[in-house]
Amino acid sequence: MTSQSKPQIKDQFRCMECGTGTVRPVAKDGRQAKFRTLTLPVPAQFEIPTCDNCDTEWLNDTVAQAIDQALEQEYRSRMRSLVIATMARFSESNVPKSEIEKALGLSQGYLSHLTGDKTPSEALASELVFLAQDPRRRMQDLETLWKKLSGPNPDPAGALAR
Ligand SMILES: [Zn+2]
Repeated sequence: MTSQSKPQIKDQFRCMECGTGTVRPVAKDGRQAKFRTLTLPVPAQFEIPTCDNCDTEWLNDTVAQAIDQALEQEYRSRMRSLVIATMARFSESNVPKSEIEKALGLSQGYLSHLTGDKTPSEALASELVFLAQDPRRRMQDLETLWKKLSGPNPDPAGALAR
């Protein structure tokens, strides 16, 4: 530790993490950040104050917010592509959207919104993927599941069996 401390310059300062490096705004490729369930590339043009010794990033709120917005856009775009791919699979297997909506308890037309401006939850997106991996059979499984929970003698444990 040194008792000497340089006056803080606007976009350059001593790293408080390692105590030796200099933190400067850095814009570069190859950075990634977690957004919800995905790890996404951080657009190269974003200048993130980064230590030249320990690589610690010192994000301020403005930069963090801008990055978050960019990541959200990318996230939505990837989720939309995923939904479009699952819909294509259902279509190949001649499973109509209305049948899927009914089996998942969704309102009619809901799935069409997911290829537009609406973003599916991770739970729904992953459910659609599992169904789309074997559409006919899994739709059948789902139908069986709801049947086992219906009627005067519901069988929740039996619903786990195929
Ligand atoms: Zn450092």
